[in-house]
Amino acid sequence: MVEPLHIVVVGGSIGGLTAACLLRDSGHDVLIYERSAVELQQRGAGIGFLPATYRYLKDRAGLDLASVCVQTDFIRYLNGQGDVTYELSHSYLFSSWNTVYSNMLHQFEPEKYVLGHELVDFKNTNTGAQARFANGSIVDADLLIGADGIGSVMRTQLQPSATGQYAGYVAWRGMAPESVMPSEFVERLGDSITYFVYRDSHILVYPIPSSDGDVSAGNRMINFVWYRNYAEGDELNDVLTDRSGNRRDISVPPGHVAVKHVEELRSTAQRVLPEILSSVIQHTPEPFIQVIYDIEVEKMVFGRICLLGDAAFAVRPHAAAGTAKASDDGWALDTAIRENKNLDDALRSWETQQLTVGSRLLARTRRIGSRSQFENNWDPTDPELIFGLHKPGD
Ligand SMILES: Cc1cc2nc3c(=O)[nH]c(=O)nc-3n(C[C@H](O)[C@H](O)[C@H](O)COP(=O)(O)OP(=O)(O)OC[C@H]3O[C@@H](n4cnc5c(N)ncnc54)[C@H](O)[C@@H]3O)c2cc1C
Repeated sequence: MVEPLHIVVVGGSIGGLTAACLLRDSGHDVLIYERSAVELQQRGAGIGFLPATYRYLKDRAGLDLASVCVQTDFIRYLNGQGDVTYELSHSYLFSSWNTVYSNMLHQFEPEKYVLGHELVDFKNTNTGAQARFANGSIVDADLLIGADGIGSVMRTQLQPSATGQYAGYVAWRGMAPESVMPSEFVERLGDSITYFVYRDSHILVYPIPSSDGDVSAGNRMINFVWYRNYAEGDELNDVLTDRSGNRRDISVPPGHVAVKHVEELRSTAQRVLPEILSSVIQHTPEPFIQVIYDIEVEKMVFGRICLLGDAAFAVRPHAAAGTAKASDDGWALDTAIRENKNLDDALRSWETQQLTVGSRLLARTRRIGSRSQFENNWDPTDPELIFGLHKPGD
């Protein structure tokens, strides 16, 4: 085991928090520096809740999973009339980003979670690494972990060639409270993930906890993710130009999508989706957009600096494994540091292992996305479609 280290994590979302909690549990002194001036909020969207994402909450925090997620028992596909054309008995757990974040945050010492610190520069030093923040503060560390997400400043500086490749489509997302949806639809959507696949597109919906974490039926929300193609250039620029006329890069958050595009979404939903799924869109107060990018890195370790989660690989959401990958990077890093006497050896072995996890997941999610959005050969019986981090179902 490496001697106790002073570790600085940049980015206090699910990836940063999981790594920080684990390394703290192993006896290291860990501080998180988060850009946001206040605790992260308003990211209530649903997430597939895979084992790597809930492992800390279940195994270390002793949380009853039933209190933070919703279980579905079926995978169903509908036709345009809303009839079930395929049904598989398969259980998934779904939660929301808010619910997981707030529970993970609760596991970490508040005085070591430092808000309002935006990393602007960093470097390796003779003894470790140093980070510099926009407010002028400078901190030294034995190990600097970049968990600063898809727009990572750290990746951009360390590996400028690893830029986001636009996948050719965006995810329209949103959540409709069950309490405002027709009860017949709530009942039919409540026990499954429900898909509708049509030419060059697909939508999936599933129940998630309410924005304040309520998991009881009738008080939850129905989450949708609708993948739609936009040609790079004018078409993409237009949909990413927000209500104030600013062109966004990665997402257009709730309340900021131009009204004409929200109206177009609702009318297209009425025209092409089965009524039950269109109803989810019509009852979602503020749909929002996340652009789908592929980001692949060749390295995750640069001296005493490393990248994890979306700061390393950003993968398409089709395996529902983004937070699982970010968390798994943290588990693997903690294990490598515990199992090696020397930090550099630990980082090398961690990098080899996690580069494989990231590149395999990216390749799998690319294949799935191509099938639905461009090749039109999506097959509901394809085992590769089952959510999972290391492989389908795992
Ligand atoms: C449409 C869509 C659907 C998805 N569905 C799922 C799903 O079902 N299941 C799932 O597991 N994942 C899903 N994901 C992916 C998931 O949201 C991400 O993979 C995950 O949030 C990555 O976590 P992270 O901690 O690496 O980065 P992030 O959550 O992006 O966090 C990065 C943090 O770093 C901070 N930060 C950024 N820059 C700086 C800086 N310079 N200085 C200091 N702090 C900084 C940010 O404020 C933020 O808190 C989906 C993604 C999309 C787009």
